Parts: sequence; structure tokens; C-alpha cells
Amino acid sequence: MKENKIPYKTYLDESEIPTKWYNVRADMINKPAPLLNPATHKPMTAEELAPVFCEELVAQELNTTDAYIDIPQEIVDFYKMYRPSPLIRAYFLEKLLDTPAKIYYKFEGNNTSGSHKLNSAIAQAYYAKKQGLKGVTTETGAGQWGTALSMACSYFGLDCKVFMVKVSYEQKPFRREVMRTYGASVTPSPSTTTEIGKKILADHPGTTGSLGCAISEAVEVAVSTEGYRYVLGSVLNQVLLHQSVIGLETKTALDKLGVKPDIIIGCAGGGSNLGGLISPFVGEMLRGEADYRIIAVEPASCPSFTRGKYAYDFCDTGMVCPLAKMYTLGSNFIPSANHAGGLRYHGMSSTLSQLYHDGLIEATSVEQTSVFEAAEQFARVEGILPAPESSHAIRVAIDEALKCKETGEEKTIVFGLTGTGYFDMVAYEKFNNGEMTDYIPTDEEIAKSLASLPVVEE
Ligand SMILES: *Cc1c(COP(=O)(O)O)cnc(C)c1O
Repeated sequence: MKENKIPYKTYLDESEIPTKWYNVRADMINKPAPLLNPATHKPMTAEELAPVFCEELVAQELNTTDAYIDIPQEIVDFYKMYRPSPLIRAYFLEKLLDTPAKIYYKFEGNNTSGSHKLNSAIAQAYYAKKQGLKGVTTETGAGQWGTALSMACSYFGLDCKVFMVKVSYEQKPFRREVMRTYGASVTPSPSTTTEIGKKILADHPGTTGSLGCAISEAVEVAVSTEGYRYVLGSVLNQVLLHQSVIGLETKTALDKLGVKPDIIIGCAGGGSNLGGLISPFVGEMLRGEADYRIIAVEPASCPSFTRGKYAYDFCDTGMVCPLAKMYTLGSNFIPSANHAGGLRYHGMSSTLSQLYHDGLIEATSVEQTSVFEAAEQFARVEGILPAPESSHAIRVAIDEALKCKETGEEKTIVFGLTGTGYFDMVAYEKFNNGEMTDYIPTDEEIAKSLASLPVVEE
């Protein structure tokens, strides 16, 4: 064991839980492109968004000027049940890798949903309740978002209707039961309960579903049911805003320890945990106060940043949602069913897309067997069984630490450990049996789904 001045775990005091979210868009010179109305291609107004989203969340979605937004006291109080989350120095992983690098991870898996998603779920449920709504609809892929939202809705006494991507619904029956235990109704998507679901099933018989399909179904139900709105667990600016608690706490803890990171790493599905983790650090970069290397890690099977196109696209397969400018693989891209983890969304947060486009963050893609190798290495020395999504970040953190071993550099690496993998044992089983394979889409496949991007004049 190395000389241990930095504690293994750094917990902040309860009074250090942020009371304001940080809105990185306020400090961006090139703002993320606005959402467009799919019919007129004009920026979506608050009035147009109101039938789909809660009012206060629409205001947050469109707010590109206020750097700090107050967190209502009820939400801070809820955060106290499971925050602050620990920042952990990975001494045992460093020892295993025999690296001079110093590795830290911010662990967001310490709540029943098993991920960071509760940070935004509780905020979204709060605003829905405040508006007097009866309930909300949403989609879930791997199931963490649905679980987090079910918890948040039951806390505020709201109804919660979840459309769960069919492949996950079948592979993760226990996730489904956790949601039902918290009172949510769970429907496998595509389903025959919506018009768009019926159409998708007719066009793609036997499809295992995708987030894009499930979003379309959830939006359809929200706009056609009195007293309901749609909520989304990633991608949107408001979700990155809520997730900034991750980065704010990380920054406070590192400042207390007197540590400045060189590299910050996060996995990227729709971009919410990464956006939340890096926001305060990117803010410093944008204001010219500091410099960091920031790496987004995505699966090679769903490589929006590294192989997608920066363009306006539909957020959903049914093309009912607004258009967002983002790195995208095309809204009808359906990742291979053999891809086990989450991170299956075809697009990427428009805020992160702009930051990537402007060179403030970099991106890399990794294959799933190498991700599970990293997950297992990590679990065996650090104790925590990581979610497959989080393990994408672990993979790259390990790779960067091994590079430091070669060069002898004592870099400080911080990565986001977004959650636990207890519901992903089918994927771990495949890996342990040596049955896991990698699938990388061909250029032709990606070109095919990109061919149906909407034509938008900018
Ligand atoms: C949902 C999820 C992710 C990916 O979503 P982002 O919005 O990209 O953060 C990563 N890790 C875990 C554990 C998740 O549940």
C-alpha cells in the first residue's frame, strides 16, 4: 500500500450538497443548437414544448444564460437520502496495474436505482408534481432510468408509465419487478398499445426494440393522455443540468484534497452523466481558468461521437419529437442485440456534441469484451460490481493508467463510476462463459441509417 495521505473515500458533509445546479451553456461561447420543430424547422418555443414536457423543465431546457439555477429545497432534501456520493481513490486498482497514475472515481451507484439517474428523476418528478400533473410517461433501455423514475414518482405520489426496450424487458425481468414494486406500469416496446408501436412492429416484425422506438411510444401516450407529460432520462439539456451535482461534488472534494485532475473520463450514452461530471471543469476551461483532458467513452457497437455525423436528426424512431443537432448515427439505427450494456442511443446530448465539435472534449470507442475484462479486473480489487455502462469508463481509465506506467508520468485520472451491475448478470454470465462477442457496425450500415437524416437548412 502506498503512503496514504489521501483517504480511500472522500465524503463531503451533508451541508456541502450543491444547492444550485450549474448550467454550462451559460459559459459556452458557441451555444448548443436549439431544438427545431420537425414540421417548420424553426426553433421550438416554450409554448410548443409545453404539451410534451413540464413547464419548469421547458424553461430549464431553453435557458442558455443563467449559470446557476437554484435546486428546490425538497429536491436537496431527497438528495440527502443518498448524497453526497463518495469520491474514491482507487488505491487497489493502482496497485494491481502497478501504475504511477493516481486514479479516482466518483461512485453514483449507492441508491436502489443503482445509477446516477435518480439525480434527474427526482427533479423531474418534483416539477411534474408541482404543476399538478397526474403522472408521467417515459422509456427505459437497460432499466436504470425507469427504476429511478419509479422511485421518484412513488415519493411524490405520481403515476409512472414506462416503455421498456423489449430486449431488456426480456433479459432483465428483475429490473421490471423493481419498477413495479415502486408502483410503475411497465410495457415492452414496441408494443401494440400505441399507434407508433403498431407501425414499427408492422415495418420491423420481430424487432427487439430500441430507445428511439420506446421514446416515440412514451411521447404518444403523454400527449394523448390528460394530466400526463413525458420525461426523459438523458440527452436533454435539463438532464445534464440536474446531473451537474456529480461534477460539483467531485470538484468540491478534489479542491478539499488539493488535487487537480489531468484526465476526466466518463461513459457516454446520451451524455448525461458525462455532461454532469465534466460541466464545472469545462466551465473552467471555457472561462480560461484551467485545462483538462476530457474523454467520452462509447461502445464500438453504437459509436455516435466517433463515427456519427454532426447534424440535425430526430430524437426518436417515430419522428414525433423535435429535431436536435447532435452527433448521430441516424434515428433508425438499431444497435446489434448482442450489445449487452446500455449506451444504445443513436444520438448524443446537443451540449456535449457542441463541446466535442469545438474540441473541448475528445471521444473514443471500446469493444464490449474488453469492457467486461476491465469490469472484472476492477470488481476483483475495488469490490464494487460495476454496471457495463460504467465499465466503458473503467476500460479507458485503465488504459490511460497503463500508458502512465510506460511513460512514468504521475497523472491524476478521475472517472465516473455511474452505477452497479447487479441486474446485468446475464451479460456477465456470457462473458464468464466466453460466449460474449463484439459487434462493430459496418460503414455501409451506418451510411444507410444516416441516409434518412432530415434535410435541414442552417
Ligand atoms: C443510463 C446510464 C448510463 C448512460 O447514460 P448517460 O446519459 O450517457 O449518462 C451510464 N451508466 C449507467 C449506470 C446508466 O444507468
